[in-house]
Amino acid sequence: MTANELIRKKRDGASLSSGELQFIIDGFVKGKIPDYQMSAFLMATYFRGMTSEETREFTRLMLHSGRVIDLTKIPGVKVDKHSTGGVGDKISLPLVPIVAACGVSVPMISGRGLGHTGGTLDKLESIPGFSTSLPIGEYKKVIAEVGAVMIGQTEDIAPADKKMYALRDVTATVESIPLIAGSIMSKKLAEGIDALVLDVKTGRGSFMPTYESAAELAKALVGIGNSFGKKTIGFITGMNQPLGFMVGNWLEVVESVECLRGKNVLDVMELTYVLGGTMVMLGEKAQSLTEGMERCREVVKNGKAYEKFIQLVKRQGGDVSFIEHLEKYPRSRYSGEIKSSQSGFVIGIDSLELGLTGIELGAGRTKIDDVIDPKAGIRLAKKIGDAVSAGETLAIFYTDNTSVVERASERITGTFSIAPSKPDPVPLVISQVDENGIKPFAI
Ligand code: URA
Repeated sequence: MTANELIRKKRDGASLSSGELQFIIDGFVKGKIPDYQMSAFLMATYFRGMTSEETREFTRLMLHSGRVIDLTKIPGVKVDKHSTGGVGDKISLPLVPIVAACGVSVPMISGRGLGHTGGTLDKLESIPGFSTSLPIGEYKKVIAEVGAVMIGQTEDIAPADKKMYALRDVTATVESIPLIAGSIMSKKLAEGIDALVLDVKTGRGSFMPTYESAAELAKALVGIGNSFGKKTIGFITGMNQPLGFMVGNWLEVVESVECLRGKNVLDVMELTYVLGGTMVMLGEKAQSLTEGMERCREVVKNGKAYEKFIQLVKRQGGDVSFIEHLEKYPRSRYSGEIKSSQSGFVIGIDSLELGLTGIELGAGRTKIDDVIDPKAGIRLAKKIGDAVSAGETLAIFYTDNTSVVERASERITGTFSIAPSKPDPVPLVISQVDENGIKPFAI
């Protein structure tokens, strides 16, 4: 068997056997298959896809390229959530302490910003001192003590994904259902979880712009999770505008803290309660989604979720004085206000363009070794459906880079579409996917 033979086989649309996939994955991890051959294999897979059996086997081999954490000594059902990525998607920040405060342990391994989408690790690392790289022994201790932990992928967790992911990011092979499924599920299955909730984004700011492609990805992810004996429920949710009002690492921490203190940012909290309620139900602390959501609302109201967040930040080395006194954080050197040139209603906010502008302001990376400016970002003043008068503020942006100010103003102005009549509301949580299939979401 040679890599060349297997690339050709995939290029011509054949499915590969377990032994053939293993040859590719092992060879790549061990450095025997060079990046140029792996890139060709990834592109062939991007165009030809994989059968569902192949995708499952691919995921299993990626999972076993590294270590699978054993959390069986920690009592209770361990449940995690994963999002396929969006703009302003800070949901993990309020969600993890809320679910942990309901008594369900959450061992979370997340990623960094990718393309135009933000990453939980970058948001957490904007908190001075917060460490997202803990050894596995420490990871286990934090879950046992706090009921939640939030770290990044270590060297020994799904190393095949780590290496493949860096290559996909620069070879335009991210948006492939089997490759995304293998990547996400190999990491999630390595965490030591018993159950998983998936937030599969659809719309302009996501990796799956059409509903059909998001549904296909959701079915693949849920199918793999359940086939590994982890109870998995997925939701397809809208990403046609950013979640909440803040886009940028520290700004998103601020919005999350405000939500944990009881501020009702409608879309952020709606999604947090649906995903959190499902996690609490899967964690056997509620009989139904409605009861799970109610439990989540209670721990926000009685302050327990906020306390849990403080405990988690402290335990992972973060300086909680910045959380308790959000105003203490340093400010960006430059800011700009975007005003509306007309009156009417906001009918669209281009989240892809907004995410890309956020990167230009310093909130994300264009190269793997770029250093993020945690203060940089965009604060929206209006969301879809809001009335706006000519001259009113639509958004404010923050940056330390004077050379991007003018361009950012133009780009952000262009992301807003304004029309004379109010648009019809569209659901944020569109569908639910479980072992019985896909159905419109309804509570
Ligand atoms: N998130 C991941 O971890 N992997 C992907 O391929 C896409 C999103």
